[in-house]
Amino acid sequence: MAFTKDDIRAALGAVMHPSGEDIVSRGCVMNIAVCDEHASIRVCMTQGEPDATQPPKEQLTKVGAVIDSCVRASAKEQGINDLGLIIDFVNHQGEVVMKLKGDVKSGGNAGEPSKQGGNTPQNKDATGVPGVKHIIAVGAGKGGVGKSTIAVNLAVGLAKKGHAVGLLDGDIYGPSLPTMMGLQSHDQVVIEGALQPFMVHGVKCITMGKLVETDKPLIWRGPMAHGAFHQLIERTQWGELDYLIIDLPPGTGDVPLTLAQSVQLAGAVVVCTPQKVAQDDAVRASAMFESLGVEVLGVVENMSFFIGDDGKEYDIFGRGGAQTMAQKLNHPFLGAVPINMALRSNGDTGNPSANFDADSAGGEQLPKALSGMVDQFEAQVTLAQMSRGAGKPTLSIS
Ligand code: ADP
Repeated sequence: MAFTKDDIRAALGAVMHPSGEDIVSRGCVMNIAVCDEHASIRVCMTQGEPDATQPPKEQLTKVGAVIDSCVRASAKEQGINDLGLIIDFVNHQGEVVMKLKGDVKSGGNAGEPSKQGGNTPQNKDATGVPGVKHIIAVGAGKGGVGKSTIAVNLAVGLAKKGHAVGLLDGDIYGPSLPTMMGLQSHDQVVIEGALQPFMVHGVKCITMGKLVETDKPLIWRGPMAHGAFHQLIERTQWGELDYLIIDLPPGTGDVPLTLAQSVQLAGAVVVCTPQKVAQDDAVRASAMFESLGVEVLGVVENMSFFIGDDGKEYDIFGRGGAQTMAQKLNHPFLGAVPINMALRSNGDTGNPSANFDADSAGGEQLPKALSGMVDQFEAQVTLAQMSRGAGKPTLSIS
């Protein structure tokens, strides 16, 4: 037996709106997603009343508690005793005004909206960078899934849309920026002790790969890696930036964890390939960010599928796996990037700009996929900013 959207919709039919109608009949249920033992529900209590103000927090918490108990009871009937449930209350613009996670109890502390992210806040000594609006980490549960490729193309795509963008190669043990951004013939310039970023493909880049001899293994212990990373961030003359994208080392070990914790991140992007083993690692990467109180802005499914010369799409790794994983974790999905020869060769030759041009990218498909990812990313940054209370009128919750 499987727990379905219809089961949830039926359960929500028992939840009353203050108008006396149930929330389903009133059209308040905007979205239901369910996958195995995880479900998320999006509710707009003022649906159909564009001028109405959002109900007070206490009322939303009470409605959330009723939704929680009705849906949980229905899940139990299907043999699911420990449902992971997220309830998002949204306004007419689809912005989340309150998020409830876990077992919601009306009135008590458990009914408080969960903070975005998790338990351990980021280190209070975390570094911010003056003049930089959003510092975003790109992480992955394991190496080789295309984390650097996505970080590079995200940065270049944002720059193409007119943003001021920096890209920091935080993968200090295996820097790939010199190759992927075509920095081989460039020398690092230092002016009065400040590292000058390389301006290539519209992006300001900095990488350990231009400061050390990369043909020798970098055998740095944690504190040394940490120190080197900090120097890269703090000693670089970034200037004013809209986004600083950090390509983190892969995995969830001590080094990526410490680095992620030591910078004031506005959010993180998790890169994953579709197969189950990669998803499991990505779940751990996502949990790492959440445990640091860093919001996961979205998941990118890389190497999603392959289009052969016959024009057919082949789901080599099981297309949609990372998307399903994102849905389970209630993270936004930023898009699927196919396996594409031009993406690999433009990476090898340090010409990521070519990925955005149909003539050099072997057709429209790659530019479209990458631009879609960039658009989704921008939208999620804006939403995250709004949910933190910046850039929107304050909701009057009395
Ligand atoms: P990571 O940073 O996760 O270790 P990289 O971004 O370095 O992974 O990618 C590993 C290799 O796979 C690179 O050669 C890159 O060009 C290639 N690659 C990544 N994504 C794709 C893709 N979607 N299609 C084709 N090749 C890819």
